[in-house]
Amino acid sequence: MVRYVYDFHEGGRELAGLLGGKGANLAEMTRLGLPVPPGFIVSTEACRAFLTTGAAPDGMSGEVARYLAALEESAGRRLGQPDDPLLLSVRSGARFSMPGMMETVLDVGLDDDSVQGLAKTSGNERFAWDSYRRLVQMFGSTVMHVDSALFEQAMASLKAGRGVPDDVHLDAGDLAQLVDTYKKLIHEQTGEHFPQSPAEQLRRAIVAVFESWNGERARLYRRREHIPEDLGTAVTVQRMVYGNLGPDSGSGVAFTRDPATGRAGLYGDYLSNAQGEDVVAGIRNTVPLAELERLDARSYRLLRTHLRTLEQHYRDLCDVEFTIERGTLWMLQTRVGKRTAEAAFAIAAQLVTEGLITAEEGLARVSGDGLARLMFPRFDPRATGEVLARGLPASPGAAVGAVVFDSAEAVRRAAAGEQVVLVRQETTPDDLPGMVAAQAVLTSRGGKTSHAAVVARGMGKVCVCGAEELTVDTSARRFTTRDGTVVQEGELISVDGSAGAVYPGAAALIPSEVMHYLESGDQSEAAAVVRAVAGALQQADGVRRMEVRANADTPEDAARARRFGAQGIGLCRTEHMFLGERRKLVEEMILAGSDARRARALDALLPLQRQDFIGILAAMDGLPVTIRLLDPPLHEFLPDRTELAVRVASAEARGESADPHDVELLDAVSHMHEENPMLGLRGVRLGLVVPGLVAMQVRAIAEAVVERTRAGGFPRAEIMVPLVGAVEELRIERAEVERVLAQVSEESGIPVSCPVGTMIELPRAALTAGRIAEQAEFFSFGTNDLTQTTWGFSRDDVEAAFFSAYLDKGVFAASPFETLDREGVGRLVELAVAEGRAARPGLKIGVCGEHGGDPQSVHFFHAAGLDYVSCSPFRVPVARLEAGRAAL
Ligand code: PEP
Ligand code: MG
Repeated sequence: MVRYVYDFHEGGRELAGLLGGKGANLAEMTRLGLPVPPGFIVSTEACRAFLTTGAAPDGMSGEVARYLAALEESAGRRLGQPDDPLLLSVRSGARFSMPGMMETVLDVGLDDDSVQGLAKTSGNERFAWDSYRRLVQMFGSTVMHVDSALFEQAMASLKAGRGVPDDVHLDAGDLAQLVDTYKKLIHEQTGEHFPQSPAEQLRRAIVAVFESWNGERARLYRRREHIPEDLGTAVTVQRMVYGNLGPDSGSGVAFTRDPATGRAGLYGDYLSNAQGEDVVAGIRNTVPLAELERLDARSYRLLRTHLRTLEQHYRDLCDVEFTIERGTLWMLQTRVGKRTAEAAFAIAAQLVTEGLITAEEGLARVSGDGLARLMFPRFDPRATGEVLARGLPASPGAAVGAVVFDSAEAVRRAAAGEQVVLVRQETTPDDLPGMVAAQAVLTSRGGKTSHAAVVARGMGKVCVCGAEELTVDTSARRFTTRDGTVVQEGELISVDGSAGAVYPGAAALIPSEVMHYLESGDQSEAAAVVRAVAGALQQADGVRRMEVRANADTPEDAARARRFGAQGIGLCRTEHMFLGERRKLVEEMILAGSDARRARALDALLPLQRQDFIGILAAMDGLPVTIRLLDPPLHEFLPDRTELAVRVASAEARGESADPHDVELLDAVSHMHEENPMLGLRGVRLGLVVPGLVAMQVRAIAEAVVERTRAGGFPRAEIMVPLVGAVEELRIERAEVERVLAQVSEESGIPVSCPVGTMIELPRAALTAGRIAEQAEFFSFGTNDLTQTTWGFSRDDVEAAFFSAYLDKGVFAASPFETLDREGVGRLVELAVAEGRAARPGLKIGVCGEHGGDPQSVHFFHAAGLDYVSCSPFRVPVARLEAGRAAL
C-alpha cells in the first residue's frame, strides 16, 4: 500500500530521498536517542503527487490525521486544545539542503482561544501573544500570499506609536493589538479570515510547503546548484519547543568543526531568549557558542556530547540547530554541514588521520571545484590600507567590486559587466539573485550562520557578515562607518572573506598558498590546507588510471604545466606561433602568387617554428608532446576585410591611389572570404590544399627532435592532424608527414619517428572512427568542435547570445561547452572509442577540448575508457584530483 507519512521513529538517513534531508536526519537523531521533539514527516512522494495533480494524494490527509492523533496522545495535549494547546512547526526539507529557499510555518495550532491557554500554561502572556503574532504573520504571507511588507509596516507603525526601537519592547497588549491588525490586513487583502481551525491551519501549511518547491527563489537556487527539478520537498511536522521563554531559554547553531577553516573544536552562535529563526535571520547579534558554557553549563556539556555522537556517527562535520527551552536542550536539525573549500580539504585530512574515514573516503570528500577556488589569490595585507570595517569572516576569498544596496541593482550592474559587492543589513532569501550576481556579500548584522553566510559559503562567494560598525542606509544608498566615513553606491570596496575585513577602493591581491605550493612543490612551513591539498593530490595520483596532460603552446606554459604535474602536452596549437611579428611572414605565405615566393615565406617561418618546438620539447623532455598541425582558416591571419575595404575606399574618395599592398590584401581577403569559416577551409583541409605548409611544419618538428636528441635530450613529439572527417584525408596528409620525417632522418642521420594521430572533432570522424583508426596511431577528442558540430551551436556566439535563456528554460543544466553533454556528444565519444579500439587494439585516446579540465566531464572520460585528459595548465591539478576521484 502507498503511504505518505512517517513517524520520526520509522526512518533514518538512508531515506533522505523520501523523507527529505531534514526529516531523515531527525529520524536518525531519534534513532540515536538524542533529544528530538517528536513529530512526523509527509514524504516527497506526496509532494510530487501534489505538484503533478494540484491536489493532495488520496489517503494523505487520513494518514496525517492518524499521525497527529498519535503525536497528541504522546504529548498529552491536542492541537487547538483551548487550555493547553499542542503547537506545531511545519517545515520544508528536500533531499538536498536548500537553506531558506522554501517555506516554513511555526506555531501552528494557535487561535483566539488557545492563545489564552498558552498564556496560562507558559505563565507568560507576552510570549503567547508574540507566538500568535508570528503565526498570523507567517501564515498570512506564506499560505495566504499577503505581501510580507504590509505586516512589517504594521509592526513598524506600532513601534513608532509606542516610541520603542525594538519589538522586544512591545508588551502583551501591544502584541494582541498587532494580531488584530494583522487579521484585518489578511481579510482586506484576501477577502478571507485567518483560519481559526488548527486542523485547517495544518492542512494549508502543508500545502504551502509543497507549493514553495516551485517558488521563484527555490527554482533559481536549484538551477544554480544543479539540483533536479522533480525531487519535491518533504514536510516535517514537529512539536514546537521554545527558545524565547526567558533568559533560561535560547536557540543556536553549532558545528562540530569550524566550517570556514576546518579547525577542530566546537563552533557556532547562540542567542539567548530567542527562536531559531532569529539566529538565522541575523535580527539580533549572536554570541559565540563558548558563551553558552557560562550561561548554561549543563546544556553546553550535553550539546558537546551530542555533537561528538553525531560526528562519530556520520563520520563527518555536522551542523545542528538546537533550542534550549527552560533549561532543557532539544536538537531540532542536523546534517552533514556545508563548508568552504579550505575546510573540506582540512577536515578530510583530519578525519583520515583520526582514523574515522579511509584515505579513499577522504579523497571522495574533496573536489576539483574546491581546489580551483583555493588557487585564487587573496589580498596583500600590506597593501590593503586602513580597514573600513570589520565583521565575521563568513566565506573566504578576496573580492573587489562597486557597492550596491539591493538585489535588483546588483543584477542590473553585473549584467552590464560590472563587478559588485552586495551590501545589506542582513540578507533574506529574496536577495538570492543579487548574491548570485555579486562578487561578495557584506552584511551589518548576523552571525556566521546567518542566511548571508550560509548561502555565500555554499556558492563559494566571498562574504563578511555582522559588520556591526556599519550603518547601512538602503534608501539613501550609502553606508556609514563608525568613524563617519560615508560610502555611496557605486564606490569600490575590497572584501576579505577570510579575515572578515573590508577595505576602501580596490586592494592589491597576492597569490594563494596552495598556488605557491603547486608551482614550487614547497610545503615546508605550509598551512594545514596546503598539506591537505598535497595529500589529496598524492592520493589521487596513486589511484587514477587516466594521465593528465596540458594544453600549452609556449615553453613557459609547458614548464608551468609540468610543475603542476602534467604528464605531457596533449595539445600544442601551432597557430598561436603564427601571431605577433610573424604575422607578416604568414601573410607573405598566403599572398604568394608563385611557388617560389611561397617557398621563401615558408623558409623564413621554418627556423622560428623549429625554435618554438625545441623550447617546448626541452620543457617537457621525456614526456609526450602532441603538436597539432595548423588548424584555423588562413584569413584569420590577415587583416579584417571591412577595415581594409574602408581604407582602400577612403583613399580613393580622397582622390589618392590606395596603398598597393592594401589592394593586394583586400583582394586576397575577399577571395578567401567564407560565410562559415568554422566549417570552411581549415584543419586537415588546409594541409591538403596549401602547398608546402604541412612539409614546413613537420620539418620544423623533426629538426627540433634532431636538435634535442643531439643535445642529449629525450624528445617525444607526436604529430596530430585536426578536423579530419574522412580516413582518406588522413591517409593523404599522413603520407606527406612520413615523407618529411624520412627526409629529415636521412639528412640528419638521426632516425625521427613520431606517432601520427588525429583529432576526433567532427561527428563524421566519430561515426567512422573504425576506418580512421586504420591511419591514426592515436585519437584526441576535440570536444569544443565536436560539441559545436554535434549541436550545431557556433562556439563563438551562442553562449552570450542565448544560453542564459536555455539554462533558465532548463534545456540543459550547464553549458555543453563547459560540461560535456553525455547524452549526445558523449555517445559519439563512446562509439569512437569502441570502434577505434576494435580496429586498432590498444589505441591511445585522449581529450584536449576544454572539457578535459571540467570535473564532471573528467568523470565521464574516465568511464569512457580514455587514457588521458588534457587541459589548460591551471586546471591540471584539478584534473589530477578529479581523475583520482573518478577512479574510486
Ligand atoms: C577542440 O575543438 O576541442 C580543440 C581542442 O581544438 P580547438 O579548440 O583548437 O578548435
Ligand atoms: Mg578544434
